[in-house]
Amino acid sequence: MSAEERLARIAEAHHKSLYSGGLTDGDCSECGWSWPCPTYVWATTARDPLASWNPADDEETP
Ligand SMILES: [Zn+2]
Repeated sequence: MSAEERLARIAEAHHKSLYSGGLTDGDCSECGWSWPCPTYVWATTARDPLASWNPADDEETP
C-alpha cells in the first residue's frame, strides 16, 4: 500500500458526526475532535507525507 492510499484510508475513517435529522455537532465521529479534526486535515493535506518526515528538517543548527 502506498503512502497516498494509506492517507486515503485514514481520511475515510474520519468524518463529521451525523445525528438523526441531519444535525451535526461539528465533531469528528472517529476521534471526537472538532471538525475538521487534525488527523483528517493531516491526511488530506496535499503534500508528500514522506518528505516531511525527514528528521534533518527538525534539526537545523544555527
Ligand atoms: Zn478524526
